[in-house]
Amino acid sequence: MNVLVQKYGGTSVGSIDKIKNIARRVIEEKKKGKDMVIVVSAMGKSTDKLVEMAKSISENPCNREMDMLLATGEQVTISLLSMALKEYGYDSISLTGFQAGIITEGNHTKNRITKIEIEKIKNHLKDGKIVVVAGFQGINDNGDITTLGRGGSDTTAVALAAKLNCECEIYTDVDGIYSVDPRVFPEAKKLDVISYEEMMEMASLGAGVMETRAVEIGFKFKVPIYVALNTGEVKGTYIKEYDETMEDKMITGLTATDDVLMITINNVEYNSKNIALIFDKLAKANVNIDMISQTAPFNGLVNVSFTASKNDVFIIDEVIESLKNELKKIEVSKDSKISKISVVGIGMMNQSGVAGKVFKIFSDNNIEFKQVTTSEISISYTIDSNDKTKAITVLSKELNL
Ligand code: ADP
Ligand code: ASP
Ligand code: MG
Repeated sequence: MNVLVQKYGGTSVGSIDKIKNIARRVIEEKKKGKDMVIVVSAMGKSTDKLVEMAKSISENPCNREMDMLLATGEQVTISLLSMALKEYGYDSISLTGFQAGIITEGNHTKNRITKIEIEKIKNHLKDGKIVVVAGFQGINDNGDITTLGRGGSDTTAVALAAKLNCECEIYTDVDGIYSVDPRVFPEAKKLDVISYEEMMEMASLGAGVMETRAVEIGFKFKVPIYVALNTGEVKGTYIKEYDETMEDKMITGLTATDDVLMITINNVEYNSKNIALIFDKLAKANVNIDMISQTAPFNGLVNVSFTASKNDVFIIDEVIESLKNELKKIEVSKDSKISKISVVGIGMMNQSGVAGKVFKIFSDNNIEFKQVTTSEISISYTIDSNDKTKAITVLSKELNL
């Protein structure tokens, strides 16, 4: 088999005309002898609209029902694309995640793919059909429809490519991966190639162009990923294994995210059991903690701050209520006007000095940071959201991104 997986994101399938265009593009590849598997997202901003509808009924809607609701978006696109392909004379079949054999596990709204019964797709390909699969969704052991987290169609596409042992092309509304989101810093440079590690780090730190889990799967199964504009006319960016030919830059990219909620728990009686209690309860509630900081003890009390995703605000509130029963003196404050700015580069593994450079740029531009964390190939700073645009601009210019 000569399979190619292509994925088209929301903007690329945002209207009937666009869906017809995609059908024509897919047919061009089919004519070259490729067995085509097409993964699509919901049309335009329709997933956001579904979320809005849910939120107009409940501030904190049940996650099982959210999955049921959000999965409908992709179903609209698969059927329309399949109809368009048939209209142009090409046999095609649309498949939901369940019909495509995508089995998932985990919590509703953030499931992980655990298994793909790929024979189902292969059989349709053998019959000569163009297979159109709904991104972002699967089915769990209870037979419930699940979703993979926002942006999860990328994950569907790369996971299918891994199983089909082929390349994965991600078509989107930007003509490749840039050092910085070009919508935020238009002078950013387009990258011809980026390593899985760097893209994974950038994605997890806010570069929404690729979903983190998708890159992780690509890395694990060595799936060549190509990200490009949906017209196919401009050369895009390859995500692949790091090799010596890649430019040995210290910093490859910069990302920013506003999805940061900072919680400060004041007046925690200072002993390690209390700190453990806080983070144990958060872990049991499945809250993903990002940064943690703690003040020095004063009169036997410390203040503990941590950051997490804003999506977890309701669970965090519940955890805090339960903590108040055990840690009577605590006072808790939440700050959601925080942004996280990160610089990423594999070159940081064997070169030092990035943190110092960034601190200097911040201080020269009167930008205060609140917390800092590092990984092997990134450094992240939380700052006041009002300083975000200034921070992105000055860092990108000074670091030549
Ligand atoms: P799709 O609907 O096709 O999945 P997304 O909106 O998820 O598209 O991703 C594409 C967007 O990612 C672009 O419009 C761009 O603004 C944003 N983006 C963020 N960081 C980057 C980056 N480093 N390079 C390119 N695009 C980026
Ligand atoms: N439609 C889903 C979303 O908007 C999945 C995706 O587009 O990848 O998040
Ligand atoms: Mg996306």
